[in-house]
Amino acid sequence: MRVTLLAGGTGGAKLAHGFQQVLAPGELTVVVNVADDTELYGLRVSPDVDTVLYTLAGLVNPETGWGLRGDSWTALEMLGRYGEPTWFRVGDADLATHVRRTQLLGAGVSLTDATQSMADALGVRSHILPATDDRVRTILQTDAGELEFQDYFVRLRQEPEVQAARFDGIVAARPTQQVLAALESAELLVIAPSNPVVSVEPILGLRGVREAFQSAADRGIPRVAVSPIVAGAALKGPADRMLASLAHEATALGVARMYAGLIDTFVLDEADATLASQVEELRMRAVVLPTVMRSDADRATLARALLST
Ligand code: GDP
Repeated sequence: MRVTLLAGGTGGAKLAHGFQQVLAPGELTVVVNVADDTELYGLRVSPDVDTVLYTLAGLVNPETGWGLRGDSWTALEMLGRYGEPTWFRVGDADLATHVRRTQLLGAGVSLTDATQSMADALGVRSHILPATDDRVRTILQTDAGELEFQDYFVRLRQEPEVQAARFDGIVAARPTQQVLAALESAELLVIAPSNPVVSVEPILGLRGVREAFQSAADRGIPRVAVSPIVAGAALKGPADRMLASLAHEATALGVARMYAGLIDTFVLDEADATLASQVEELRMRAVVLPTVMRSDADRATLARALLST
């Protein structure tokens, strides 16, 4: 079955890995957020793409969920000696990824083709598609002022309260042809348990993506989202606090409301089974499953369950 998954970094990568384990090679396409991309030391860094790439290549650091297993920090220490900021933790091997991407982009290769070539080199058997080749950047209005996403996320450890989020460039940006084709040819569309505000919205907000979800519905293609909020909390990161400060409800129901009209089925964690009837009032089916992916087997089990929802 051809599955197209919309994803951010952590939660997105884990579910992508679940699907990769249970689908035939090439059947999974992951459309990944690039609005939290940044430039560092003159290099292009695509944190969500890298998290998905490393996870699907079996190289991710299992302790952090980002970066490479066993990486070292010699280059970062040296950059620090040159007076460069070192709060964005780039390991030595990780640095090579950013060098390679920047090299390809500099040679005129698109971000999409650069990602494909790197995924091929690492033996990934799924398609990883940046949502757009155009420049889109998340800017957060916070109680500590206006912040670029990585400044908020990494340097300030998500401590400021987010009062508004905007995505610079999103009106002019286009999803790539490959993304539109993946949405058109999917037999199942899935929104990963990713941050709905800063990971999923910058994909859905690209012109034509919501329309592609609608035409999938017209073709009878199931559209499913998995809640990133479990028992009123994010498993990792600031999604719960961000939802609350942006006047959404910081529960699975609050996330379901954000996806109303876009999906047919919303997957709630077992811990949130009591919210199922309220989710169904949003004219979507509520399915209760264990959604917390602690192991590779959990990921595969959830992916398999989604294939048959
Ligand atoms: P980011 O780009 O690194 O912030 O990652 P994502 O946007 O993809 O994911 C962040 C969200 O993933 C958070 O709201 C987490 O609660 C959620 N998440 C992480 N792991 C899991 C999991 O195993 N199950 C579920 N249901 N959600 C998860």
